Amino acid sequence: MTDTRPPRCDIAIVGGGLAGGLAALALAAKRPELDVRLVEAGDVGGNHIWSFFDSDIARRDRWLVAPLVRHHWPAYDVRFPGRARTLRMGYKSVTGEALAGAVAAALPPGHIVADRALHVAPDHVLLAAGGRLDARHVIDARGAGNLSALTCGWQKFVGQALRVEGGHGLTQPVVMDARVEQSDGYRFVYLLPFDAERIFVEDTCYSDEAALDVAAIRQRIAAYADAQGWTVAAPAEREESGVLPVVIAGDFDRYWPPSDRTARIGARAGAFHATTGYSLPDAVRTAAALPGMIGPDLPARLRERAAAAWRRQRFYRMLSAMLFRAAEPAGRYRIFERFYGLPAGVIARFYAGRSRPGDKLRILSGRPPVPVGRAIAALKRFDWR
Ligand SMILES: Cc1cc2nc3c(=O)[nH]c(=O)nc-3n(C[C@H](O)[C@H](O)[C@H](O)COP(=O)(O)OP(=O)(O)OC[C@H]3O[C@@H](n4cnc5c(N)ncnc54)[C@H](O)[C@@H]3O)c2cc1C
Repeated sequence: MTDTRPPRCDIAIVGGGLAGGLAALALAAKRPELDVRLVEAGDVGGNHIWSFFDSDIARRDRWLVAPLVRHHWPAYDVRFPGRARTLRMGYKSVTGEALAGAVAAALPPGHIVADRALHVAPDHVLLAAGGRLDARHVIDARGAGNLSALTCGWQKFVGQALRVEGGHGLTQPVVMDARVEQSDGYRFVYLLPFDAERIFVEDTCYSDEAALDVAAIRQRIAAYADAQGWTVAAPAEREESGVLPVVIAGDFDRYWPPSDRTARIGARAGAFHATTGYSLPDAVRTAAALPGMIGPDLPARLRERAAAAWRRQRFYRMLSAMLFRAAEPAGRYRIFERFYGLPAGVIARFYAGRSRPGDKLRILSGRPPVPVGRAIAALKRFDWR
């Protein structure tokens, strides 16, 4: 007789992006006895280059990302109208393709389910192709959740990998080149030199509007390349774009209602840096912790973890409020220009989302780069939740 019961597994992860892919890798490495399935509607890893500072990831967790690193540099630069600086901090990039390859190698054949989840519940997933997947635990890693629960500005960007004939002349990343015309809020160009001729050029704005004009940004990238005197081979080798929430305020209980008992990780759990929109540091920490958390109370433990991370992000939400509410759009760059004058450790812990009380004082003290009246008004309106 044929068994018509739907397949049942230990863990069904829905969404094979950064958080879901890393979680699958961590479970496969540390809990190989578990039957883990990864449901992904598109390509595992998607079209991404994810970068991070060495200090974003604790030494004990580095085993998880080390095999995914495709580019690394020992230092990086920043450039502002009134400041240029080199920071001796390792910087690394992992790619969506590397994540996809690692996940495919780590999970048994057939455990990546190439389908869209139509309904995600704590113990099952309904699939667009008509199937049902039962699981002891479902982990929702489908990317950003209910953004209407948040008050946001936006970090939006288009990045292109270009080949510069004769070489571009850079040997290390420029994480912010803000010596460009300031438009649509704080604008900077982000540069990752992959080799002597290939370079990733991303034009980014901290904007009040989420709408992304890809064609206009492509032109700005071309104009930037031109201004560097680069001869660029057409077309670009790859292109990615993003619109990331920069959170000013938000109600965690609305973002992840306590009544929703499905476990969540990644952006779905609100686990991203409120000022940079970046989630890799938390995605690695959570994936590395996950194998030790599997048990009946997994959803509650993951929610508790996400809620605690949300509370820790309050300082960064306040900085986002300063950026969007106290600074004039054209003067937003001054906040970062001043920030990059701080000691390297303060900067590193800021990106890792691990600022200490003393760091916070240093970030806030001194002559503010925004009008004092507007700063006070922004603080008065700030939602301290
Ligand atoms: C282009 C880009 C570059 C970025 N660069 C960096 C960076 O350098 N460093 C950094 O820290 N952060 C970066 N970020 C920010 C953030 O880290 C990423 O957005 C990150 O990918 C979020 O991880 P996630 O796993 O939560 O969501 P995602 O990586 O977006 O993964 C969600 C996955 O779920 C899948 N999915 C959605 N709905 C369904 C469904 N119904 N059924 C099945 N599958 C579904 C999607 O196809 C996707 O693959 C970047 C963001 C973007 C957009």
